[in-house]
Amino acid sequence: MHIKTDGLVIKEQNVRESDRLITVLTSKYGLIRAFATGGKTIKNKNLAGTQLLAYSDFVFYRGVDSYNVNSAVEKEVFFDLRSDIDNLSTAFYLAELFGELAPENAECEDLLKLLLNSLFLLSKKKLPTPQIRSVAELRSLAISGYAPNLIACEECGAFESDKMYFDIKNGSLLCSDCGADTALSPISISTVTAMRHIVYSEPKKIFDFSLGDGAQRELTAVTENYALEHTGRHFKTLDFLKSLQDT
Ligand SMILES: [Zn+2]
Repeated sequence: MHIKTDGLVIKEQNVRESDRLITVLTSKYGLIRAFATGGKTIKNKNLAGTQLLAYSDFVFYRGVDSYNVNSAVEKEVFFDLRSDIDNLSTAFYLAELFGELAPENAECEDLLKLLLNSLFLLSKKKLPTPQIRSVAELRSLAISGYAPNLIACEECGAFESDKMYFDIKNGSLLCSDCGADTALSPISISTVTAMRHIVYSEPKKIFDFSLGDGAQRELTAVTENYALEHTGRHFKTLDFLKSLQDT
């Protein structure tokens, strides 16, 4: 049986001499793992379309217990990402995160669009890298059923106070009064406003905001910890990204 869908290659593994197993985030069927045979040979007409971070029109052949790539025609390969190690590493981390969140055998258009938009903005350097990453982290978790409740203070219902507290584990907010006796660290109202924007605005507008450096640092810490807490995962690509930023 053949299936057709567009999709983004988010992982590749070498298997045997010249074959690769690729993981594709598809719009129609969620994650698909497929063998790209003759993967690394020059004669392979599907090579460009099956490389890591290529967005392509795929035809897969579904065998008894595995998929194979019949054809892959690249639509976008985000070539410009390769010129900046920070942006490329951020793209690899987001690919790994989305691979953890995406379902198999279920429509996945919202996640795919979010990742494609994030890669586009990274490749064109349209926005600060930490901002693109925070939006992708928090929005992808919200799409995947881990939306925090940012509407008001969980205890008293206050909409905002000069500082607020975000409970990473519960995904809830507390105002300055209700959070004062907890072990949580306070975050600025600018950071809370950015988080609300990322979670609640329509898809086209999620990247449309700007933050000062201090608030962005808070946002980076919050969205990263939120992603780690709710996936329960450790990401090697994130370790690498952070090692770049420490040097
Ligand atoms: Zn309160």
